[in-house]
Amino acid sequence: MMTCIVLDIDDTLYLERDYVRSGFRAVDRWVAGAIGVSGFFDRAWKAFETGSRGDIFNRCLAGTGVDAPGVIEQMVGIYRSHAPDITLLPDARRFLDRVSGGRLAVITDGPLASQRAKADALNLRAWADPIVFTAEHGPGFGKPSPRSFQLVADRLKAQENECCYIADNPAKDFQGPKSLGWRTIRIRRRGGLHAERAGTSDIDLEIESLDSLFPAGRSLVIATASHA
Ligand SMILES: [Mg+2]
Repeated sequence: MMTCIVLDIDDTLYLERDYVRSGFRAVDRWVAGAIGVSGFFDRAWKAFETGSRGDIFNRCLAGTGVDAPGVIEQMVGIYRSHAPDITLLPDARRFLDRVSGGRLAVITDGPLASQRAKADALNLRAWADPIVFTAEHGPGFGKPSPRSFQLVADRLKAQENECCYIADNPAKDFQGPKSLGWRTIRIRRRGGLHAERAGTSDIDLEIESLDSLFPAGRSLVIATASHA
C-alpha cells in the first residue's frame, strides 16, 4: 500500500513562471527606486518569454548606463528573498486536501531563501512534514542524488515500496527515488518549464493533473497504477 507521498514544489504544486514574474516585479521596484532604471520588468519578462535563462539581469541592465559593481548581486538577492506572489494550482490544492492526514513530505532543490519563501507563500507546512530543502544539507545532497529521498523515508519510517515521488523534471527528479525502489510520477503541466522535455525510463506514470490520481468515485490510484 502506498502511504508515503513526496512532492516537488516548482511546476508540481504551482507554476514556476509565476514565481519568475513575481521576482521580476520585486526587482523592478528596486531598480526603479535604487538606481533609477525604469522598464526593467517588461524587458526581463520579454527575455524570459523568449527563452533567455541565467543572464536576464545582465541583459536588462545592458544599455542603461548602470555599471555599479554589485548591482547584479543585489538584484539576485532581491529576487531570491522576495515574498513571492504565488498560489497553489487548483488541482494541487485539491490533492493536498485529499491526502491530508497521511504521510506527506516535500523535497525541493534550489536556493534556500527562494525555496523557503515559496513554501511559506504556499503554506506547505499545513500539509507536509518534513519539507526538505536540499540546499540546506550541503553540496551533493540535491537531486538527482538519492540522499534527500532516503532522509524522508527514514523520517517517515516508510519502506521503499510505500513511497512515491511526484515531480516535473525528467532531467533530475526521478533518478534518485527510482534508485531506491520508489514509484515515480511525472506531472507534465501546460506552461511548466520542463514540459517539453522527453520522458525517461525512470518515470512510472505521466499525468497532466493531480486530479488524475483520484478517478471519480475511487481512492488514490498511485499504488495500483503500476507500469508492470
Ligand atoms: Mg520542479
